[in-house]
Amino acid sequence: MKISMMWYARKILMKKAKQKLFPTIRKTKIEEIKISLDNIRVAPSPRFSISDLARQTCVACGKSDIEILRYPAFKSQVFAGLVLASCKICGFAWVPIPKFPLDDYYKHHYADDFRVERVINAKFYSPENPIWTLSTHKVRDRAKRHVKALEVLGPVKRVLDLGAGEGLFLHFFDADEKHAVEPDKNSVRILKTELNVSVEALGDRTDYFDLVQCSHTLEHFTYDNIREILEKTLRTLRPGGHFHIEVPRGAVQLAHFTAGKRGRTHRLEPHTLFYSTESLLNLLDQAGFDIKEASVCGWPRPSTSLKKLQKRYPETALMQTPWLTVLARRPQRG
Ligand SMILES: [Zn+2]
Repeated sequence: MKISMMWYARKILMKKAKQKLFPTIRKTKIEEIKISLDNIRVAPSPRFSISDLARQTCVACGKSDIEILRYPAFKSQVFAGLVLASCKICGFAWVPIPKFPLDDYYKHHYADDFRVERVINAKFYSPENPIWTLSTHKVRDRAKRHVKALEVLGPVKRVLDLGAGEGLFLHFFDADEKHAVEPDKNSVRILKTELNVSVEALGDRTDYFDLVQCSHTLEHFTYDNIREILEKTLRTLRPGGHFHIEVPRGAVQLAHFTAGKRGRTHRLEPHTLFYSTESLLNLLDQAGFDIKEASVCGWPRPSTSLKKLQKRYPETALMQTPWLTVLARRPQRG
C-alpha cells in the first residue's frame, strides 16, 4: 500500500515537472488530438447498398461466403465509418466500395498524416537526416533486409520498385537501372531529385524488368484493381523475371483486432486489402505467376486450396516469418 502511494505521488510530481518544463509542447499535442478527434466526429458516414454488399464475391478465391465488419482502427476522416468485407473461406478482406477514391488520399492525407518525415526542408538523403544514425528504423531496416534476401538472385540489371516510398530499397540495392512507381508527391520529389530514379506508371514498359520489388504496397490497392495490378506487373517483367512481395499478415491482424486484442501502437489505416497466404498465392497464381517461396500467415482455417497450391508448386519453400513474403516469377514462356 505504502509503495503504491509513494509511486502514485512520484508519478504526480513527475507529471507536474514535465508540465512545467514542456508547457507548450503539451498544449500543442492536446490541441492536435482535439482537432483530429473533431475532424473524425464530423466525418461523412458513407452509405452502403445492401444489394451491392450481397453481390460481392471474393476476388482471391471466387467464393461468396462473406462477413461484413466495421473498419476496426482508423486515423483519418477518409477511413472513419468504413466497413470491411471478409471471406470466410480464404481469409482475404477488403473495403467493399467500388472505385474507392484513394488517389487524392495518397497525394495529400497520407503524406501529411503518416509520413511527415518526408516533408522536410533538408534533403532526405543528407547526412543530417537522423534515419542514418538511429539504432533501429523500421523502413530503413526493412529495405536492408530485402536487399540481403535478394542476393540469391545474383546481379540484377533492371529493377522496378512498386510503391517505392522515398526509395530506401533502391538506395541500398545495386542495379544498372532503377525505376519506381510512387504516387506520393514528396516521395516523387526525393526519388527524382536525390536518387535520379525514373518515376513512371506501372505498365509503361513490357518484358523489361529483371525484378519488381513490392514492399508493403499490395495492401494499399482495392479489390476492383488488384487483379489488374498483378497482371500489369507480370507483363512488365521479362520472362523469368522475379516479383518479390512483402505485406502485413492482414488476415491475422484482422482476427486480433476484431477480438479486441489491439496493441497501443497498432493501426490498420490506410490498408484497403488484407491477405492470408492462401489469398495472396491464389491471386498471384491467377495472374500467371509461378510461386517459388512463401511465408505462412497462420490463417487458422483448414485450407484445401492452399494444399492444392502446394501440390501445384511442390518446390515452393514455405517459411514462418513475421510478415507475409512471397518470391514469385514470371514463367519463361508466358
Ligand atoms: Zn476468399
